[in-house]
Amino acid sequence: MKYLNNMELSPYLEHLQDESVCQRCGKCCKYALITPEGAVLSISSLSCKFLERDPESSNYSCSVYEKRHAHNEACEWCLPITEAVKRGYFPNRCPYVKDIEGYQGRFELYDERGVLKVLHEEEKPPGVSEEDWEFTAGGKK
Ligand code: SF4
Ligand code: SF4
Repeated sequence: MKYLNNMELSPYLEHLQDESVCQRCGKCCKYALITPEGAVLSISSLSCKFLERDPESSNYSCSVYEKRHAHNEACEWCLPITEAVKRGYFPNRCPYVKDIEGYQGRFELYDERGVLKVLHEEEKPPGVSEEDWEFTAGGKK
């Protein structure tokens, strides 16, 4: 796949295990569409149903963090970190990946309305927040 990050990750393993680098932006917990070439298109108005925002700090956290991988039938884009890095699920600016040479992360769409309209012709993806799904019905953001 063109967008699969096939680089050797062993020099970065220690860094990838250091959870303190996460800035709690929540961007890797947004729904994503994967193109046939493996490009990851972030749908930023659709969050994982387990993503929670602290209204005071605006930081995001996961309500099932310790057991998040047990939920991946619902949230199929939540993968162990090396697998998520290889597939480009983190945005390029994420501190986990920003120094990995040649890394290609998720793309953010300038305008999601067309994609949302198409997505809403089908059932809600199981991992997507009900609230976000309702809010984006009809392609509105
Ligand atoms: S994109 Fe990176 S910094 Fe943001 S929540 Fe995910 S791991 Fe943390
Ligand atoms: S289950 Fe995974 S994708 Fe969903 S909020 Fe938790 S860490 Fe993020």
